[in-house]
Parts: sequence; C-alpha cells; structure tokens
Amino acid sequence: MINLETKIEEIPKIGPVYQKRLKKIGINTIHDLLYYFPIKYNDFSDIIPINKVKNGYQACVQGKIIEIGTTKTFKKWMDITEATIEDETGSIRALWFNQPYIDRSLRKDDFVCLAGKVSLGKGGVYLNNPVYEKVYESPFLGSLRENNHLTHTGRIVPVYSETKGLTSKWLRFIIKPLLASFYNVIPEIIPEEIIKKNKFLPITQAIWQVHFPNSFEAADAAKSRFAFENLFLLQLSILKERAKLMKKKAQSCPMDAGLMKEFTSALPFLLTDSQKQCSYQILKDLEKSVPMSRLLEGDVGSGKTVVATMAALNTVKCGYQVAFMAPTEILASQHFKGLAKMLEKFKVTIGYITSKESFIYKNGKIEETKKKNLLLDLEFGQIDILIGTHSLIQKNVKFSKLALVIVDEQHRFGVAQRQALGRGPTQTKTQTDADSESEFLYENISYKIRKCLFAIKKELGLGHKEIIYQKALAEKFINERIKFEQEKTIPIMYNEKKIGVYQPDFIIENKIILELKALPFTGNIEKRQVWNYLKGSDYKLALLANFSTKDIEISRIIYDTARDGQRKSALSQRESANKWVPHLLSMTATPIPRTLALTVYGDLDLSLIKEMPKNRKKIKTLIINPKDRKEAYEFIYKEVKMGKGVFVICPKIESSSLKLEGEIASIPESQIPKNYDLNLFGVSETKSVTQEYEKLSKEIFPDLRITMLHGKLKAKEKERIMLDFKKGEIDILVSTSVVEVGVDVPRATVMMIESAERFGLAQLHQFRGRVGRGQDQSYCFLFTTEPNQMNRKRLKALVECDNGFELAQKDLEIRGPGQLYGNQQWGLPDIAMESILNIFLVEKTRTAAREILEKDPMLEKYPLLKEYLNNFKQKIHFE
Ligand code: ADP
Ligand code: MG
Repeated sequence: MINLETKIEEIPKIGPVYQKRLKKIGINTIHDLLYYFPIKYNDFSDIIPINKVKNGYQACVQGKIIEIGTTKTFKKWMDITEATIEDETGSIRALWFNQPYIDRSLRKDDFVCLAGKVSLGKGGVYLNNPVYEKVYESPFLGSLRENNHLTHTGRIVPVYSETKGLTSKWLRFIIKPLLASFYNVIPEIIPEEIIKKNKFLPITQAIWQVHFPNSFEAADAAKSRFAFENLFLLQLSILKERAKLMKKKAQSCPMDAGLMKEFTSALPFLLTDSQKQCSYQILKDLEKSVPMSRLLEGDVGSGKTVVATMAALNTVKCGYQVAFMAPTEILASQHFKGLAKMLEKFKVTIGYITSKESFIYKNGKIEETKKKNLLLDLEFGQIDILIGTHSLIQKNVKFSKLALVIVDEQHRFGVAQRQALGRGPTQTKTQTDADSESEFLYENISYKIRKCLFAIKKELGLGHKEIIYQKALAEKFINERIKFEQEKTIPIMYNEKKIGVYQPDFIIENKIILELKALPFTGNIEKRQVWNYLKGSDYKLALLANFSTKDIEISRIIYDTARDGQRKSALSQRESANKWVPHLLSMTATPIPRTLALTVYGDLDLSLIKEMPKNRKKIKTLIINPKDRKEAYEFIYKEVKMGKGVFVICPKIESSSLKLEGEIASIPESQIPKNYDLNLFGVSETKSVTQEYEKLSKEIFPDLRITMLHGKLKAKEKERIMLDFKKGEIDILVSTSVVEVGVDVPRATVMMIESAERFGLAQLHQFRGRVGRGQDQSYCFLFTTEPNQMNRKRLKALVECDNGFELAQKDLEIRGPGQLYGNQQWGLPDIAMESILNIFLVEKTRTAAREILEKDPMLEKYPLLKEYLNNFKQKIHFE
C-alpha cells in the first residue's frame, strides 16, 4: 500500500534520474513532495479568445490544432515546432524551439490549452514557447472553460524553484495526481483550537490551495497557514529544548567581586559601561545552578573577550574548568595569548589545542606540549582553561570538571554538544553540601600531607630509594597524628569478578590515596596508574608525590565518579551524567534582528555591548575610483614607511583569468582574436590573492615586505605570518577572508578591499574592524571590479555608517531577507525563511507554542504534533 511515507522510488512515474534530482533537494517521500511548495504562481486563469491576444503579454488560449510540424532552421542549429490553433474567434501560431518531442505528443485536431508569452514575428503575433496541455472531453466537464482539471494552463499555475533539472511542468505533472490521492489523509498537526482561533485553512484545503489555488487569496491563505506551521514547530522545538535545559543542573559559581575588581584594575584600560553590565549579567547567571545560555553580542572591537575572560576567571577560581572555542586557528591562538596575558597574575593554567598542535601556559610561560599530555592533564583537572578550535569537541577531549563553555563567533551550540563537551568524569559529581564540604576538607589534609613531604625532603634530601621515603613518611605521619593505612588493598574488577588488587602506598584518614615515587620524573603512566586506583575505589582524591632528582613534584588527581561507580547501575550513571550541563556563553559580532533573536536564537538570553571603547578613532572609509588607484598606493606606501601595517583583501585565492590566459597562450597566436578582452570570455576580473600579490610585490612596491595569507596555508604558517605581521616584519598582507573575524593587529591602519562588491555588508564591516585597533587614524579603501559598481548602495552604506547594527538593518533593506539570511543554511523550509522576518507572525507563533506547552509540556494530547516535531528537529540545524 502506498502512503504518505512511501519513498519516491516506488512512484512509477519517477525514474532514477529524477529520483536523484529530488533527493538532492531533500525530497524522499510522497509527503516531502507534497510539502515542496511553489515559489510563485502564473496567472493563466483567464482563457481569452484568440482574437484578443496582445503582443508582449502573457496569454492563455484554448482551441483545436489545425496544423503542426517541425522544421530545422537552415543552419541546422535548431528544431522549430510550429502549430496553428483555432477557436471561434480566430487562429494563432505557437512556436517551440528545440522541443521536437512536442510534435509527437500533440497532433492535428487535438484540443489544447496553451499559455505563455505573446511575441511579434514576421508572420504576426505568436505564442512563444507556451506551456501546453491537452484538454480531454470528459463527463466531469461542463464547458470547456471549466478549469479544475487543468494543471499547467487555464488556471493559476504553480511555479516551483527550477534548480537541479526539475521543471515546474514536471513537478506539476507529478504532484497533482499525488495530491488527488493523498490530500485527505495528510494529518492535521496544528491543534484544532489554534486553527479555529486563527481561521486557518484546514490541511486538506491548504495543501491543495498552496499548489493549485482557486484564487490568489486562497494561495495566500494557504501559504500563511504553512508559514505559521513552520514557525510554530520551530518555536515549539526551541521552547521545549529550553525547558529541557532548565531541568538540568550546572555548577554554580559564586561571583567573587574582589577578584573581579582585582582583574579589572590590572587592565590597561577602563571597562565601558556596557562591558560592566554584560559581565555582571553573566557572572550572575553563573551563580545559578541552572545552565546559562547567553549570547554576548557586540560590534567588532567592542571588547567581548575581556568580558568572557572575567567569566572564565571567576569560574576557574571556583574550582572548575572552562572551554573556550574559536572558529579559526588564528583566533584561537590570539585568544590563548590574550588570556595568558590578562590572567598573568592569577595563577591560571591555560591549554591550547588545535588539530595540529598544542601548547600550555603555566607559571607565566607558554610551552609547546604533546597533545596526549595536555589531554591527560585536562582529564586530571590540571588545566583550568582549554582554548582551541572545533577540535575541542572531539571525543578524546575530556574535562574533569567543566563548568563553562565560551564559544566565539559562528558556532551554535546545542544541548547535545554542551553535554558532549562536559562528559568528563566529574559529570556525575554529586553536589550535596556534604560533598562539597568534604572537598574543602581534603584541601586541609592535603596541605598537612604536603608539609610532611617537604619536611622529609629537608631532612633526607633527594636521591634516596622509594622505600626510604615511605618509611620516613610513616614515621612523620605518626608524629603529626595523621591517621593512615598502608596495607589496604583496592580490588580490580573485571566482568564483576575480582581479578586482582592494587595496594597504594598510603591511604590517609580513609580519604586520600598517596602514592610515592622516586623517579627522575613522573609522567602520564604514573598518573594513569593512580587514577585507576581511584576509579576502582570509593576514594575521590589521590596525591602522587615524586622525590625526583630536582624537587618533590606533587600532583593532585581527582576522580569523582569513584564514589558512585560501584553502587549505581550503568543506567543511573548515565542518567546522572545527563543531568549536568556546562554554562554556555556564546559571542558574536553579528547583529541579530529581533525576529531572529526570537526564533533561530530563541533559546539564548541576550547581553548587548552597545558602546565602543572611548579611545577609538573613527575609521575613514572611502570608495576609490579606479583612476585614483595610484594615489591610494602612494598613500599606502607612506603609511608603511611610518611603520604601519596594511591589509589587502581579495575574494579569491587564485585567479581564473590567469588560468584562461594560460590556455590562450597555448593557442597559436594567429588564432587569437586581436584585442581580445577576457571579459568577453565570460571571465570576471574578480581580484585574487596570488595575482594581487604578484602585482604588488613586483610592480607596485618592489621594496616592501609583502606576504600572502589564505586558507590553503598550513595552520602554523598562517600563525607565523600573522605574528610577523603583528610584530611589524611584514608590511602588506594580501589575504582572503581568513582574516575576517577577530584578528587583532594594533599596528595595522589600512584595510584595502578589492572587488568589494563581492562581499556582504556585514563581512565588509568585519574586515574594516581589523584596523583601528591601535592609537592611530585608520582607513578602509574599497575598490570595485568595475567602475559602475562604485555606486552600489551597499558600499555607500558602509562609508556612511560605522555601526554594525545599523549596517545590518541597511543590508536587510537593500538586499531583502532572502538574500541576507537565505544563504545561511539552517535547514529551514523556504517558507519559514521568508516568514522569519515577519515579527508579527514570529510573536504569534511564539505565544501559541508557549500556550500549548504550558498546558501540556510533553505534548501528550498532541501525538501527531509531537511526532512531527521530532522529524522537524532532525531537519533543522543552527550550528
Ligand atoms: P571583539 O568584541 O571584537 O572581540 P576584542 O575583545 O578583541 O573585541 O577587543 C578589541 C580590543 O579592544 C582589544 O585589544 C582589547 O584589549 C581592547 N579593549 C577591550 N575593552 C576595552 C576598553 N574598555 N577600553 C579600551 N580598549 C579595550
Ligand atoms: Mg572577538
């Protein structure tokens, strides 16, 4: 039995080629096909008498074919099918180009309906490539004008998005019979009370009217119902997700006002009022034991990093770890160095990890380290803040006590990702009062133990065997009245059978395991061993003390699940692991219109940095006429000679016109047309990094230090280049958009953008934000590929306005929502994308979703809706 969920492969009319094309746009089932909506309609509803047809207009006529045939044009280039159609009022020709099969499907004496554009040719007006449809006489039909049975003509005709080899005609041909069979079995997912309240078309009507409407009003009514439906689902899924998150627990980190004050007063500048407000909001959120979900929004250069650093520091000093994720390696390493500097006085250990390299900042020094070691340190709770790229969410990255995730630019973080990040051992930490008390108590004993260890070292010195230290320590513990056991064993379990035992050197006050070593150094093997003791025991804390040749090294190793490990079933462990979620602070420089804040970002609370630091000079932005290019170069030369840095941004890495020139070079010269113009070959002259680099370094500034930067370079190389540029060892950096986000080079004063029309306003604003980060006046020069693009509204807007929020609003006005947000692939249906900027609808759907969830949080009374919601959730993705 075929039903709505039947796969398109099983529809006889859809062959393999079309199956593939449909799947490419996400259509897999009959249901998907029926929910593939037209993007517009052609009005062929008026069938007019042939003698009323007018040149230049669309027309739909009906009549009998009195003649049809196909000829080839004399150059044999094209098939032309020509037919003459006649009604009571006259006759008209129809011409089709290169569609010889029409000749086979239409015959003399057929009754047809034709719709299309009317053109004027030598022999008078004719229908130019009209859509055609045979009209059969059938018992259902009253008069010929009755148009319900028509699909392509004689009615309001749906036009679908015709990409990927799917024509509207074909889609109509497929969709219409499916509609006829299935329209009354499509489930109504919008709750009845909402349908009534909003006077929506019920699904059975709406699905017809959206494809084959009786009137434009009916089409609008259907579309608004589906727009509502989509946004309603979106709101439901966001609100449900949010509610789910609210049930989880996060580590509460009390705000340490004194510490924050100490931090801010060590900064070389004063915080802006906005920065103060935002950091307060965030720190207050961190105090709560429900997970924070906050978006920190502030224009480029508004100083979001400082605010995030305050949150990180406070979290670390509460005893937890912080993950800090950046979209690119350049940015991650900048944050690493920035945070290391800002936190210099606060004894914080910071790790840095990308897919290729890892560093550690400890005791005021940055050192390269093995990734494996860094990850183990992390797992043992020895790293306070881990900074990196997307590699942070890999499986092998395990935090021991993650409480805060900071995400800079771009990434959207779902609950699942947050949970994945926080999956380390202390996920299951039980936060009863007794436990947290005992943790601080341990602090006390560990302090006593340390004292004993150092006292022994003082007396005995270094270089003895392990057993000597053991004996001495036992003596010392007795003197200090510290309770300890030496013979206690810890079972090693395998398949619930005891297969062996560990015997740690000491167990102190039945709380802490102490393992002594006398090795040249201890590494991860030893740590892992001690960790295993903990894992198999009821103990939470172990100390590993090594009397090395230089000093005593003491590592604290924590394993909090130990306590629960043996008693709880695997299931309940998983449950409690699911309960804990780190706080989330997401940062963006992209201004978010209110409608998006309520939809796509609807699960986040918003903190806004509204003002820029006061010391900033306004960046001078100029659109440069091509004839003034030389002057611009002279200006740049002067800036460089004063020690300033210059960015040159191009849209591409390599030039396609260069390639073409190469091809042309291989053609014998006699065959190249004189004065050939590459543009005639359809090659645009969009500037490329390699081309500009060649030109600048060879012709324009042969004496300056110029370097290329683009995404194809290795991370290390990019990093080195940025660093050299920062230090002043490179004068001009020719780059693609990889420098787009957040890179900080205070000495850079000129941002020169080639083919500026190729970039979006928000992106241009981001580029511009790369300069003006120091004391000096900075400039942004905009060049266009062709002079006539100079007047583009978009570029003018950039010149006139330096506020990211206003620019976003302007971009919205100039380009429209489709352009602006349509290219962001969130997996939302087009119809939802269109309506997402309709604040009225957004608010209405939000209210409706809230009301339903208040009454019935689990949607138990709405099983269909619940099921749809799950499918819907799988399709959308905001990351
Ligand atoms: P963004 O918000 O774009 O991430 P950053 O956090 O990178 O901005 O800050 C840009 C620069 O401004 C940094 O060099 C930072 O040290 C500096 N900065 C931040 N806050 C202030 C302030 N209140 N006054 C002066 N400079 C500041
Ligand atoms: Mg930033």
